[in-house]
Amino acid sequence: MSSNRTDAEIDGDAGAGGDGVPGGIELSGVTQRYGSGASEVTAVGPVDLTVPPGEFLVLVGASGCGKSTLLRLIAGFEEPTVGEVRVSGGQPKPGVTSGVVFQQPRLFPWKTVGGNIDLALKYARVPKQQRPKRRAELLDRVGLDDVERRRIWEISGGQQQRVAIARALAAETSLLLLDEPFAALDALTRERLQEDLRAVSIDSGRTNVFVTHSADEAAFLGTRIVVLTKRPGQIALDIPSDLPRTGVSAEELRGSPEYAALRAEVGAAVKAAAS
Ligand code: ADP
Ligand code: MG
Repeated sequence: MSSNRTDAEIDGDAGAGGDGVPGGIELSGVTQRYGSGASEVTAVGPVDLTVPPGEFLVLVGASGCGKSTLLRLIAGFEEPTVGEVRVSGGQPKPGVTSGVVFQQPRLFPWKTVGGNIDLALKYARVPKQQRPKRRAELLDRVGLDDVERRRIWEISGGQQQRVAIARALAAETSLLLLDEPFAALDALTRERLQEDLRAVSIDSGRTNVFVTHSADEAAFLGTRIVVLTKRPGQIALDIPSDLPRTGVSAEELRGSPEYAALRAEVGAAVKAAAS
């Protein structure tokens, strides 16, 4: 369950964004605009945000408020119109400073589960002879060791999303970015994946940024919850969570008054911020 920095360092790139602490994020005066002239849209900003390494940050807000835009900026898929984004002290680089999980798993459907992971390990420049061991570890971590030889089209949506998470973990980056990864799943599967992701994140040392529009999901997962305003997305509320990370079952947690209070606080804030 622990993030393997040594392998990442052997690959020579994963997680190393510069001279900063691995996994830390710094957004300074970030604004993102699209289009020009009359069709110009300010999607996000200005946003200032510091995320220390190891945090499980949940960005929550109504649809269209700029959550995915913020995540793309942190991933390094885009550069901000104004301001600066730093990951691990340097410029974010897709696939190098972070792993990303999208709402749709975006796998190779004709390949096997193991084959998809192998490809990710290859991209992460893990030497060929080390890949079977790493593949087995990753599949075990996401609870998929029994479907390694199945084709992607033969497994369920929840299992596919587990493969996508394993793939994002393959490079052992110190930062994992997740954009509404469970939104398309049925309620039971979604809860199961939330529980497993929460468990996998504990003690990993990895930083997680998880985007959702669900107050339930935010309260369950986050060590810190940032509520965004409607577009252009700005920080409306920044709430630390003191819900226990260990020593309590998911069921107990979901049934606790502390969880109910946090969920209600986040839900009310999301509603207020959207209007
Ligand atoms: P969210 O993920 O919270 O639903 P997004 O970050 O996808 O929100 O979008 C925020 C706003 O920016 C939306 O109004 C969206 O239409 C706009 N937007 C996002 N990406 C682009 C783009 N590439 N070109 C133009 N407008 C965009
Ligand atoms: Mg989005």
